[in-house]
This record gives sequence, C-alpha cells and structure tokens, in this order.
Amino acid sequence: MAKAELMNYEQALEQFEVVIGLEVHVELNTNTKMFCGCKNEFGNEPNTNVCPICIALPGALPAVNKTAVESSIKIGLALGCEIAPTGRFARKNYFYPDLAKNFQTSQYDEPIAFEGALEVEVPSGAVHNVLIERAHMEEDAGKLTHIGGSTGRIQGAEYSLVDYNRAGVPLVEIVTKPIYGAGSEAPELAAAYVRSVREIVKGLGVSDARMERGNVRCDANVSLRKKGAEKLGTRTETKNVNSLRSIERAVRYEIQRQAHILANGGTIIQETRHWHEDKGATSAGRPKSDADDYRYFPEPDLVPVQPSRELIESLRATLPEKPADRRKRLAGEWGFSELEFRDVVNADLLDQLEETVAAGAKPQAARKWWMGELARIANESEEGAIPNITPAQVAELAKLIEDGKINDRLAREVLGYVLAGEGSPAEIVSARGLEVVSDDGALIAAIEAALATQPDVLDAIREGRMQAAGQVIGAVMKAMAGSADAARVRELLIEMANK
Ligand code: ADP
Ligand code: MG
Ligand code: ZN
Repeated sequence: MAKAELMNYEQALEQFEVVIGLEVHVELNTNTKMFCGCKNEFGNEPNTNVCPICIALPGALPAVNKTAVESSIKIGLALGCEIAPTGRFARKNYFYPDLAKNFQTSQYDEPIAFEGALEVEVPSGAVHNVLIERAHMEEDAGKLTHIGGSTGRIQGAEYSLVDYNRAGVPLVEIVTKPIYGAGSEAPELAAAYVRSVREIVKGLGVSDARMERGNVRCDANVSLRKKGAEKLGTRTETKNVNSLRSIERAVRYEIQRQAHILANGGTIIQETRHWHEDKGATSAGRPKSDADDYRYFPEPDLVPVQPSRELIESLRATLPEKPADRRKRLAGEWGFSELEFRDVVNADLLDQLEETVAAGAKPQAARKWWMGELARIANESEEGAIPNITPAQVAELAKLIEDGKINDRLAREVLGYVLAGEGSPAEIVSARGLEVVSDDGALIAAIEAALATQPDVLDAIREGRMQAAGQVIGAVMKAMAGSADAARVRELLIEMANK
C-alpha cells in the first residue's frame, strides 16, 4: 500500500468544505433470523445455526420475522421518521461467498422508514440536526475467514472458510442525507452521530449495540468541495469502521488525503475504502458508481410489509425517553458543571451514573467513582471494560464514605475486594474489620505514641504552624494501617495543644 500524502488538517479546512454521509448497520437482537427460524446467536460453532432457507437450498421459502419488523419500526420512530404503510423487499444481486443465495434480501425504493432527523451534540457542545434519509430492513451476510495471508484479507490468502451462522440475521441500515456545516468538527460529528444511534438502539432494547462485536457498524462517506462551490465533490465510502475512535480518525484521514489530491489538481475516485487501525490510514477498495448495478428487483417470495396505523401507534407508545431529552433532564438533576457533564457523556457512563444515583449515591460521589478510580481500572484492563462492579455496589461504597464508616484509602481497599468477588462493600467492611477508627481512646493512644518521638509538635501547633500536625497525622495513619479518622486525629491534636 503506497503511503498517501496528506494535507495539514487546518490548511485543508481553509480551502475546502467537508460533506459527510453516514450509513449505520444495526444488528437486531431478535431470537431468530430475518426470514427463517434459525437462532440469532453470537459465538456458536460455525454453521450450526443454519437451515435450508438461510443457505438457500432449492425450493426453500422465506417468511418475514415479525419482531424484526417491529424493532425496525421502533428504530424509525425513535429517529423521527415516517413509517411506510406498505413496503416491499427487494433482491440486491451480487456474488459473494458469504451469501449462499447470491443476492441479499433488502429494501430498495420502499424502505420501512424515511425522512427523519436526529439531534447530535459534538464534544465542543454544538448541536447538529442530522437529517435521516431512510432506514431499511435487510439481512446480514455470513462470516468469511481468510487463512494463510499476512493481512487476514482475501488478497494473498491460501483459502477461506465460511460460517453462515450470521447469514440472514436481521439488520437495519440507517442512511443520513449529506451532512453539511460541521466544519473542522466533521470527524467528531461522525463519531457522535454513531454514538447517538447506538445509544438509541440500545435504549430501545432492539440491539445489543456492541460495536466490538459488529452489532453497530458504520460506512463513512466523505467528500470535499472548494469553499463556495455549489456542486458536491466526489465521495469515498470507508466501509465497516467499527469503533467510535476509528470513525473519527478515518474521516479526518480522508479529509486530509482528499485535500492533498484536490489541491494538487488531482481527482477523487468514487470508491469504497478500508480503514486500517494499525496504520491509521485508509486504502482503496473497489470503484463504485452511484448507479451500482445490483439489478434490484422486487422480492417475489415475500408479501409486502404493511404495518397498521394501530401497530405503529402502539409501538410509538413504547418508546423510551429520547437520549437528548434524557441528557437534559440528568444534567439538571445532577447539577454538574457543563464540562463535568460532558465528560460523563463522552465516557459513555450515563447509565452507570444514573443507576448509582438511583441506588442512593450523591451525584458528585457517583461521578467521582466512575470517572476516577473505576475508569482508571477499566483503562488498565485488557478489554478496556468497566470493572466487574454494579452501580448499587458503587452507591454502597459512596454511602460508607459519606457516613464516615470508611475513608478514601479504605474505600480503595474495599473496592479491590469487591472486584475480587468477595461481596458487597458493606459486607466486606464488616467481614474484614475495615471500618475507620474514630474511637477517641484508640486515637489518643496512637497520637501519644507519635508525640513521644516528635515532642515539639504541640508547641508548633500552639504557635499556629499547623503543617506540623501533618507529621503526627501521618504517623498515626501508619501505625493504624490507614484506618484512622484523619479529621478526628487533627481535632484531637488541636485540643491537646490548647489544653
Ligand atoms: P451507497 O449505496 O453508495 O452506499 P447510500 O445512498 O446507501 O449509497 O449512501 C450514501 C451516503 O453517502 C448517504 O449517507 C449520502 O447522504 C451520502 N452522500 C451522498 N453524496 C455524498 C457526497 N458527495 N459527499 C458526502 N456524502 C455523500
Ligand atoms: Mg449503502
Ligand atoms: Zn435458517
């Protein structure tokens, strides 16, 4: 792969306007596949969730999964779309070994949902109204594994394995209209949009929405046009970018790559591209014209989908609070600064915080735990996952501190035992005797022992040099293995000095 030349990002934005368009595939979490009764389940032995329909044996006839249709309608409604009273499936014809039928059953000119909009907030705080062109139903393809090459791609492989377990799993593809006006924040907006879609489908409960498993995948279209030009530039479509960070990086890379070509009098080829996380670069895929000849035609084996008004309205009634409304509500309830709140949103910790607060923690304490110690532990873990602790347990930990039963240091120790599966924080505190010692008798004994080696401290305190107290507090803490109530030790020292 020849290394492409890139224009400096700021320079690129001085000369060009960025237009992006996002296609997001959402894998639904129905029990069964889109057109057959096979299990829709991740992680099974290859080719065990298959039947004559999803491997296309002659004569097998598909039937539409009702739950998948309802989930698609919910997604459409949550994105503010119109729902089509009638819609047909279409065959999208192409050869690829991961689809045994040699066509994908999709929707073409009659998508189930169309003309929606989604408000998306970027990290700077600006809100963009992203227009949705359509959301349509289709089926996923199987999974190919290319063996023997160095890249894991088909090029250079000796042979390929195919697993049809995923073939026929229901997907909803959500397509935006071209998005203008994001300026230098186009990469952030692309990632924030996908984050919002993910948040919506997760909130609806219609998808597991795990990007690392490919439940939510994004194709990012990017084009540039000279500032002031009317006509849209030629776009590239970077396929299957599957983390928020990669989306942002891939869009930024395409802007810089295209800008360099255009500024040097070159032309952009309309093509698909692949994102390489390790190289931080995209590479050319296949050329793609707008009128891709997939020979779409109406699917003759399926009746049209005709959801009744009553069904649509009853589904609308089940929609949860919109993520944007929820954020506004929580920001008000928690009373964080704008920056504190945005950090929580960007860290994808709203659910955890909301549950922790609901379990009785003060919002600031909940924030401190999830954004601090727990985020640090998650970052250091291999999968970068949130550690094995429930919001209720975090709330319990915060409450123990608030009630003065444990201090911050003891809390970290208790947390370690919680993560090791020893039980709830309160159980651990009592089982291991980790309570803070605020019993005056024990504290005074420890203070006196410390003063025996630092006899000048009381004089120093009397003269107003309070920093001297720190040495005694430190010695007491050390003697009591960190379980002393430091604030009480300080009070007692002052009392003793002033006696
Ligand atoms: P395709 O079949 O090629 O994937 P789609 O209609 O499914 O086409 O998706 C194309 C996406 O690209 C849409 O989100 C659309 O808004 C966007 N798009 C179209 N033209 C441009 C352009 N010139 N620059 C950026 N995005 C574009
Ligand atoms: Mg498309
Ligand atoms: Zn099947």
